[in-house]
Amino acid sequence: MVGHKRPAIKIMRFITNNAEQTIELGRKLARNLKPGDVLALEGDLGSGKTTFTKGIALGLGVKKNIYVTSPSFVLIREYKEGKMPLYHLDLYRLDKDSELATTGYEEYIWGDGVTVIEWAEKVEGILPKEYVLVKFSIKGQDKREIKITSKNKKIKL
Ligand code: ADP
Ligand code: MG
Repeated sequence: MVGHKRPAIKIMRFITNNAEQTIELGRKLARNLKPGDVLALEGDLGSGKTTFTKGIALGLGVKKNIYVTSPSFVLIREYKEGKMPLYHLDLYRLDKDSELATTGYEEYIWGDGVTVIEWAEKVEGILPKEYVLVKFSIKGQDKREIKITSKNKKIKL
């Protein structure tokens, strides 16, 4: 189509060799995040999604002593101590999309803060047009591959 430009899709691939490096990657990425940004985290159990989210929290200025854990039982946890709110969703235990509807997630995704969604593959249909996809793979005991793809949006590290 003349005059119509598709936004460039950029993929960045990282290998981390311990949890601290994964935290550091999250921390770096968070420095360039803006209110309303959505991060979809995908990958097996233990691949580092929550660890990475810890880094995001640190990068947004959430204090180190505030422990970021997987909110598996509450679906959504909110951290308000940073420069903007962080909404951390973990959909591991989610069976149906309809269950999510009861959480009021829409307010978060279109909200005033950064939204991180673990197990985002379960709710692909609800993601906004622009988001950052982060895929985690276990490559060894302490080795993780982390692929960051910008979907219709610009990201910086
Ligand atoms: P998920 O949220 O994807 O289930 P977690 O972040 O909760 O995964 O757990 C990852 C586990 O793997 C933690 O126990 C962490 O210490 C360990 N680990 C070892 N190496 C790494 C690494 N390179 N990156 C992230 N976590 C790692
Ligand atoms: Mg987790």
